Amino acid sequence: MTDELEETEEQIDPDELIAQAARDAAPRYGLDPDDFARRVLAQRDRRKERASRPAKECSDCREHLPARMFAEDAARPDGLQRYCKRCASDRVNRSRRMS
Ligand SMILES: [Zn+2]
Repeated sequence: MTDELEETEEQIDPDELIAQAARDAAPRYGLDPDDFARRVLAQRDRRKERASRPAKECSDCREHLPARMFAEDAARPDGLQRYCKRCASDRVNRSRRMS
């Protein structure tokens, strides 16, 4: 009896679902399905890793904010921009107005 139940409760690997969705979407962007799936999973891992990090201080408003409030910047050691998203967009607006 219990065997029957175990058979129907199939374990779905969330990674596999993400990878499958990426493989399905890849042709629409003209990308290699397996390569795209790998990149999507890698990006997901970076986001997860970043979400577990302590708050980061914005170099502009000096507020301590969670890492998700900062845009990505691969050139920086922690992979995040120095300014929070709000300050970053303020800066863009200010420089647009000046020019
Ligand atoms: Zn800020």
